[in-house]
Amino acid sequence: MNNKPLIIANWKMNPSSQKEVKRLWDSIKEGIKKNKEAEIIVCPPFIWLSFFSGVLEKLGAQDCFWENKGAYTGEISSLMLKDLGCQYVIVGHSERRKYFGESDEIINRKLKAVLKNRMKPVFCVGEETRDSLNGNGKQINEMGLIVGEQLEKGLIGISTERIREIIFAYEPIWAIGTGQACLPDDAMKARLFIRKILSKLYSRETAEKARIVYGGSIDSKNVSDYVKNAKMDGILVGGASINASEFNKIVEKIG
Ligand code: PEP
Repeated sequence: MNNKPLIIANWKMNPSSQKEVKRLWDSIKEGIKKNKEAEIIVCPPFIWLSFFSGVLEKLGAQDCFWENKGAYTGEISSLMLKDLGCQYVIVGHSERRKYFGESDEIINRKLKAVLKNRMKPVFCVGEETRDSLNGNGKQINEMGLIVGEQLEKGLIGISTERIREIIFAYEPIWAIGTGQACLPDDAMKARLFIRKILSKLYSRETAEKARIVYGGSIDSKNVSDYVKNAKMDGILVGGASINASEFNKIVEKIG
């Protein structure tokens, strides 16, 4: 696989003012520009995207609606995002599933809309709980069950040609924003598991080519464990991506 490792920055609903957006960008832009070894994608909130049009080479959004236009008050389409210069859209983030009731069926529609507009979805999957006490595979079983279903339902009707555009993000929910990152070994198992499902749904070749990143409490101290040691195809960073000094260190480590 000669793809560069991915660093996907999910700013979530931050920062809350234009001034802070500018300050954050000013503090991270040099590191991003200097790094030629990684593919760095920044996903700010919708409202700040136009600030980055033509400024950021790899711009992403955090969500989209599945139709291109119409009477859908408050929604933003992937076509609109494309017009602003976005090439990537995060789809199925656990916070969307939890707070906005996004089902696998909704996520499937969004994935198809993003692909139809020739953009790359970052498709998030992950189990809810961690059984840290027994450490004997229960977590892996739950991951298998839930992630398997999320993948099978989310990918319904998506062709082999289009699947190649999808970046898969393994994000165990219990690891997001908790400071308790998943064990690199378990991220590796999840990556293998995702490949197994893709192999069943598509082909071995498709499965082997799929890019699978890890997300959940990544910081500058643990990032190398996932990208360099566990050989994930990259990382999705939430909290640490809006902390300029942490983010700069992460970018430096994957360089
Ligand atoms: C995320 O929001 O996808 C995420 C991984 O968050 P954090 O890095 O804060 O755990």
